[in-house]
Amino acid sequence: MIMFNQVNKWYGDYQALTNVSAEIKTGEVVVVCGPSGSGKSTLIRTVNRLEPIEQGEILFDGLDIHGSSTRLNQLRTRIGFVFQNFNLFPHLSVMENIMMSPVKVLGEKRSAARQHAGMLLERVGLSHKANAYPAQLSGGQQQRVAIARALAMKPPVMLFDEPTSALDPEMVGEVLNVMRGLAQEGMTMMCVTHEMNFARDVADTIWFMDQGQILEKSTPDAFFRAPQHARARRFLSDLL
Ligand code: ATP
Ligand code: MG
Repeated sequence: MIMFNQVNKWYGDYQALTNVSAEIKTGEVVVVCGPSGSGKSTLIRTVNRLEPIEQGEILFDGLDIHGSSTRLNQLRTRIGFVFQNFNLFPHLSVMENIMMSPVKVLGEKRSAARQHAGMLLERVGLSHKANAYPAQLSGGQQQRVAIARALAMKPPVMLFDEPTSALDPEMVGEVLNVMRGLAQEGMTMMCVTHEMNFARDVADTIWFMDQGQILEKSTPDAFFRAPQHARARRFLSDLL
């Protein structure tokens, strides 16, 4: 579904991605891990064109994501993105946050959008918060609303960049559980996370990045049992 072909990216003189080639298949869950500064956020942000690339291409169902004729708005409606910081609209209720894009961008009727939003809120366990405002929610609740809001666009793929790293520890599990549920339902997902238990249980494939390269693509089993690179072994031992 998503194909990276020889992607290179620079920030000025600094090469942030080097010859990245990789594929995410439909229904696959990829967890991207690696040390701080290795290029994980940069890589995931190239997928919905939050970051440009200088060389190579990224294809989304054959569509050239960075092609000059590819329309950004259309692309972003099809790729759900959840960030570390929830970015909810503070002046809108939870329900309005979730309904907004389907109504404004997809032209859904408000009644249909509200019904769908209600289902999504139920799925993330927040039906009782439909009329609350973001500031009235915990971090974990806000992040679950952010996931529901992304899902409201019915994207075929979801990207997550450290969705739990800004949360208090007791709220991490509720967000990971929502992500776990999505994975079980067959959502195609690319997740940057340091939650190695999640990676072990949920990922189909783990990409280990270092210095702008994907050094290793493995099943969780192989990665945790016998990482190929010294850098990956060090990364894992530092986590434990
Ligand atoms: P972390 O685990 O800390 O989130 P990361 O793997 O997501 O790290 P990136 O944010 O992708 O790493 O950064 C990769 C490299 O690119 C780092 O060396 C970083 O300093 C650099 N970098 C990131 N964004 C910019 C930018 N806007 N301008 C210049 N350099 C940048
Ligand atoms: Mg990052």
